Parts: sequence; C-alpha cells; structure tokens
Amino acid sequence: MATMNDDERLPTEPLDESTPPPTSLDLDRAEGLTATWLDGDTTHYSLEELRVHCPCAECRGLRERGLPVWPKPASPLPLRAESAELVGGWGITFTWNDGHTTGIFSWALLRQWRARDAGAES
Ligand SMILES: [Zn+2]
Repeated sequence: MATMNDDERLPTEPLDESTPPPTSLDLDRAEGLTATWLDGDTTHYSLEELRVHCPCAECRGLRERGLPVWPKPASPLPLRAESAELVGGWGITFTWNDGHTTGIFSWALLRQWRARDAGAES
C-alpha cells in the first residue's frame, strides 16, 4: 500500500476551458463514452471509470476521505447513464441510474486522463 495519501491522481478540476470540444461523442448508456477529438485522437471511457472519478465536490470529498464513490450499498447495478448533456461547450454531464447528476466532465479533464497515451513517446 502506498504511504502517501495520493490515491486520486487524476485531475478533478477543469484545467483549461478552452480545450476544443470533441468532433464526435458516442454514448453507450450501458457501456461508456467514446470521444473523437480535433487532432484525430479517439478516447474511450467506461461508465464505471467516469462514475468513480466523478469530479463533483461531493464525490471529491468521498475520495479524499477514502470512501467509495461508487457503488454504494443502494446503487443499482449495473451502472447506466440515463442521459448525458453538454455543458456550456466545455464539458459533459451525466444523469446516472443511481440518481447522481452533479459531476461535470470538462473536455480538458477527459483529455488529461488520456494524455499519457497521446504523444508521450516520441
Ligand atoms: Zn459526483
């Protein structure tokens, strides 16, 4: 086990609201989200990854206390995204089947999660 309290290394705040939106977004409500970006990159995020790393204040607080974000005892399984909605041109928010709706996943955040896959090796 790590001794440092750094279990959450993914950035949780929008780093750059000027990140261009994906050229296409494909939500499979039972599986995950696929985004294609301006530079031709295609990235995929499972529903579970998105839900567990929900960037809202409530979920951040749970992670900071080492508590599970998802699933909770009352969480319906399997996880589903009931709907998704674009937010102000800089991100996307989901309505989850456990009733959670408050996380906004900025384009910058989604790209940051996969940054190590893009141009990291030359
Ligand atoms: Zn949340």
